[in-house]
Amino acid sequence: MKVLHVAAEIFPLVKTGGLADVLGALPQALIAQGADVRLLLPGLPAIVDAVVHQKIVCQIGPAFGAARVTLLLGRMPYSHVPVYVIDAAYLYRREGSPYQDSEGHEWPDNVQRFALLGWVAAHLAAGELDAEWTPEVLHAHDWHAAMGCAYVAAHPPTRAATVFTVHNLAYQGLFPSGDFNLLGLPSRFMATTGLEFHGQLSFMKAGLKFARRVTTVSPTYAREIATPEFGFGLDGVVRGRGADVSGVLNGVDGAVWNPAADSGLAQRYSAGEPVGKLRCKEALQRELGLQVRADALLVGVVSRLTSQKGLDLMLAALPGLRKRGGQLALQGAGEPALEAAFLAVAKAHAGQVAVRIGYDEGLAHRLIAGADAIVVPSRFEPCGLTQLYGLRYGTVPVVRRVGGLADTVVDANETNEQADRATGFVFDAATPAALDGALSRAAAAFTDTARWQRLMQRAMAQDFSWEGAATRYHALYESTLARSSG
Ligand code: ADP
Repeated sequence: MKVLHVAAEIFPLVKTGGLADVLGALPQALIAQGADVRLLLPGLPAIVDAVVHQKIVCQIGPAFGAARVTLLLGRMPYSHVPVYVIDAAYLYRREGSPYQDSEGHEWPDNVQRFALLGWVAAHLAAGELDAEWTPEVLHAHDWHAAMGCAYVAAHPPTRAATVFTVHNLAYQGLFPSGDFNLLGLPSRFMATTGLEFHGQLSFMKAGLKFARRVTTVSPTYAREIATPEFGFGLDGVVRGRGADVSGVLNGVDGAVWNPAADSGLAQRYSAGEPVGKLRCKEALQRELGLQVRADALLVGVVSRLTSQKGLDLMLAALPGLRKRGGQLALQGAGEPALEAAFLAVAKAHAGQVAVRIGYDEGLAHRLIAGADAIVVPSRFEPCGLTQLYGLRYGTVPVVRRVGGLADTVVDANETNEQADRATGFVFDAATPAALDGALSRAAAAFTDTARWQRLMQRAMAQDFSWEGAATRYHALYESTLARSSG
């Protein structure tokens, strides 16, 4: 089965969040199961510079404001997955994130930058750009790639089945309605049955409306986005798709996240030989200037600092954690007010609270390995990956019961502990008191070494592999293709 994955980021070349990790792992897992998978990515500097064995597939000519657009085909470094790259220097060759300049402002021409990504995807799917390879399935990820589904719908001879995955419904790709003229779509697409969203133009809606199947990255989030609380105004559209919407839980890339093989750690460890984790804790405490104490519950956070992630709750729950002798190690970047607030507590309580602002893949590994617990108090969480990394590294998750967090962590209440199922601490309300309650239960469990060891062992025994997710996506592709040819 030929499958084209379309996205704006991919680990390890361009990453702003979990989306990149998914694109870095899922295609390989599908290939391992026999699928013929290729990627389509925008020609951002880090991508054009890293893709190997590049050759020109075709000159697309001027498009979406760029005088020259060329389609390249090469292979990803490391994984060797085949990858099409859209080389359009005018739109993509700039420093900053895929979506924003280095000051944090959205690129003013994002409508054209991501319309081009979808347009190329649809024309590849129509067999018009590469005579040698035409996908049967076009799998678009998040709003950045969603226009591919609209362009396929506008081009009826295209046989490819479209699948759209929502990684985060909060980011929707909204543009002024006047920008519709830049898209080259028939005017019927600018209607409430199409891209129109409260007087604006929504790329996310293009995916939700026009893909044959819609998925999201956990079963619970698939149900949640059909409700006003989590739908960001699109819950009606999601409900309208009924059973076409489903959830497939993300996996963990064991080649990247594995404590037994992680070369960046002070000492590697595994469920069978967990002692190395203590060395990692000590090394982390030293590295971050925390008091070197094995008996202090060291709580870690690796996160974007946005209101989604609920880290204001962590700030408010910090006095309780400190009073109980616990420590916090936080690594993150995002909203300036949250960054400043965390830096201020770290300054006031050096030795007990350490904060590193910025993005650092190596420190993320050392922190998740060295911490005893990882906190993810999100207000909403499509899947969440750091709690999965925590489980893998025997770093007990403390999470809010929402989205993928609810699907992956089993609360250490009496019933679950007796049934040998508990893997972490789960709380319900998005309040400092509820988080404090969960942290206090974790602190109590931590003082009982045997109990904590059992939690760690169960956490490390969980299997969130990409293999299982790839099998489920494969079945979804099959059923989508069967339905369209039936
Ligand atoms: P989201 O995609 O909403 O940001 P996820 O939990 O799905 O949340 O994925 C976040 C990914 O980004 C994880 O791989 C996590 O380790 C990584 N990450 C987040 N913040 C940082 C940071 N400051 N430095 C390094 N990695 C980070």
